[in-house]
Amino acid sequence: MNNLTLQLDNKAKALAADYLRTEAALLCVLMEMRRNRVFPELNCSGIFEYCERVLKLSKAQSYYFKSVADTSEKVPQLKQAVTQGDLSLSQARRIAPILTPENQQHWIEKAKTLPQAALEKEVAAVNPNAHPKEKIKPVAEKLSELKVPIDDETESNLLALKDILSQKLGRNATLSDVIAFVAKVTREKFDPTEKAKRAKTISSGNKQPPKVAGTIRAAVRHEIIKRNGNQCAYVGSDGRRCSQRQWLHYHHRTPVAKGGASTVDNLQILCSMHHAAHHDGRITLNA
Ligand SMILES: [Zn+2]
Ligand SMILES: [Zn+2]
Repeated sequence: MNNLTLQLDNKAKALAADYLRTEAALLCVLMEMRRNRVFPELNCSGIFEYCERVLKLSKAQSYYFKSVADTSEKVPQLKQAVTQGDLSLSQARRIAPILTPENQQHWIEKAKTLPQAALEKEVAAVNPNAHPKEKIKPVAEKLSELKVPIDDETESNLLALKDILSQKLGRNATLSDVIAFVAKVTREKFDPTEKAKRAKTISSGNKQPPKVAGTIRAAVRHEIIKRNGNQCAYVGSDGRRCSQRQWLHYHHRTPVAKGGASTVDNLQILCSMHHAAHHDGRITLNA
């Protein structure tokens, strides 16, 4: 080999080693951050959101960190293999979904020795729950393609609906029509925001709290959703509002135990994470 080839080869190898060390070190810091519960203060739901939004890593990379960190809580040998340089993050994340304390030795050894594609195949064979990934891919302006795994029952439901919808539309309905229809009707029925829009404004006579302390009238919930949206109301010190729209709780500003009522003014929507953080005294709520 000539001198330049050797030089560049050595340089690349040294950088790759640095890269793997950095990955392992970052995994450790992320797990420490989670253990010390610093993510709520940073207005992030956890490792994934922090990696993606704050560290600007790719979605896939952020997910690998989260997945390997999650498994490492139960199987510390996985983290150890990464920090000792036995496995890269990319090898570790392939076995993370199937790793248990009982089988860890077997799979960590395989991950070290097998080529990535062969490893992936072996993992898939023992992980029947591994669904193909869900995907919405843009194919044209205002048009995307949806790819999702469905079971037999869902397939027959969709095909039956196709017939029903064809009848209703007076033409051959497509699966796209069926999904559009299901999405629209289900959302109208279940989306709290849509329900709140339809609900009448609370009449003044109805502003009294209900007799049983702690229960929240539907009309009160609708009013709160109209006021703040069906989303966590926590605003971090950086002025960003929490984007969580799932796992929402109604929080009493003045607690029920201290005479707080279930009224529009005394209630606030918080996600479970910010709700717990508030009651643990780790965050303070904006007025
Ligand atoms: Zn609360
Ligand atoms: Zn929140």
